[in-house]
Amino acid sequence: MRVGGFVGLSTCDWPGELAATVFCQGCPWRCSYCHNRHLLPAARDGAIRWDSVVAFMRTRVGLLDGLVFSGGEPTLQRGLAAAAREIRALGFRIGLHTAGPYPDRLSEILPLVDWVGFDVKAPFHDYARVTGVAGGGERARESLRRLLASGVAHEVRTTVHPDLLDTASLTDLASTLADLGARHYALQACRETNAAGRATPPGAAILGRPLSETLRNRFQTLTIRA
Ligand code: SF4
Repeated sequence: MRVGGFVGLSTCDWPGELAATVFCQGCPWRCSYCHNRHLLPAARDGAIRWDSVVAFMRTRVGLLDGLVFSGGEPTLQRGLAAAAREIRALGFRIGLHTAGPYPDRLSEILPLVDWVGFDVKAPFHDYARVTGVAGGGERARESLRRLLASGVAHEVRTTVHPDLLDTASLTDLASTLADLGARHYALQACRETNAAGRATPPGAAILGRPLSETLRNRFQTLTIRA
């Protein structure tokens, strides 16, 4: 595994679980709002040795619930399944953050995973406008279909930047996701830092009550992170 970052305790990367988080090096996509640009080059050696992650997890047996593989894009790495088995063997649960660019590799890892946070970038026919790379929408749709068919617990998430998604496209996307069988959906405002260094939530304006009331009855849970 090429590990670009590691957090020994997170309460937010896996809702309801105390977990460590591994930030995997490499991602095939180039979303304009990506906050982890140092993780994007796939060929770059990780800053952290995988062995040291395993050693740390040995010291947290009984203290943490699990480990989340985040990114970057974890399924880009062929060693992911072996790494997940190694952590499971210590008694931990496994969480996965993915945007689904590799359906076959997702299928390989799903039997080893307890929960998936699945990023959906945009309506599937319009992915390249967010990811900057052609062909991603169909791969993401297929990955999501496999996740939902597997029965593994999930949260589907969409980051909302108002220059990339408007209310109509969000409503359309949410309807597609509900029809595919997604039960848990979260909309999160894209956060950016302005010239004065202050964080602004540019996506928050369209995540108001009208949108949430329109979408709420399509999902078992709808979470708005404005
Ligand atoms: S998929 Fe995630 S890690 Fe990859 S570029 Fe987009 S936001 Fe960044």
